Amino acid sequence: MLLDIEKVIQGPESSLNLNPETFFKIYKPLRDFDNVTSATHEIVVNEFNKIFGTKYLPIDVRHWNVVRDWAMEKGLNKRDAEEIETHLWFNPDFLFKAKPIPGTCELSYWLYEKGLNFPIITSRKDVYVPYHNRFNTVKEATLEWMKIYEPWVPQKDIHFQENSEMPGNYFKAFMINKLAGGIYFEDSLDHAQTVLDYTDAIVVCLSDKMNLDNMGYKNLVRIASAGGNMPNLLPFYDWISRFDS
Ligand SMILES: [Mg+2]
Repeated sequence: MLLDIEKVIQGPESSLNLNPETFFKIYKPLRDFDNVTSATHEIVVNEFNKIFGTKYLPIDVRHWNVVRDWAMEKGLNKRDAEEIETHLWFNPDFLFKAKPIPGTCELSYWLYEKGLNFPIITSRKDVYVPYHNRFNTVKEATLEWMKIYEPWVPQKDIHFQENSEMPGNYFKAFMINKLAGGIYFEDSLDHAQTVLDYTDAIVVCLSDKMNLDNMGYKNLVRIASAGGNMPNLLPFYDWISRFDS
């Protein structure tokens, strides 16, 4: 049985019974970037639909190779399909165009205003893409994106994977331990599972996939999509902000 995030913080089953501000003081919040902070799936799917005249939705992206598979279904050979895939997931100019995931930016502002931080841990890394103009690296594009949508977040709170040999999921678990994270927001089930296995953090997973639901993880909370929208933190933020008044 999965926990509601509200009940983790304050609720009948919770022994904590804390208000959210106190909770986040004790349980240091950390988060992923793609599809937790920035709505990457949305621009990837929209661009794919534009190229191929398809009508996929962001929630149809079940794994990142799906773009290659869809392109091959449209008749492209594997090499061309992989080229499209690389362009959509790694072109820094293109990634820069993503919009924020609803609720995350609001939660971030709420936390920083209270003197609490909401650092980002991202496994984004550079892969060679032939055409880009404005940004040379995904790091540059990501920092600029943050300056626009969350200018209150200092650059020291944005952690990139510098070691490209380390798998992204282990990098995240390593950083969560290093930063003493208490609650971590993630969208990838694989990454969530590694964090659950190797850290003591509560993991809030923004995902429709139920693979981890019945595996006995006591620290797992899952937020599913609703009404065709990608899973997001807006209902959670609305709940939290009610404690302010
Ligand atoms: Mg992600």
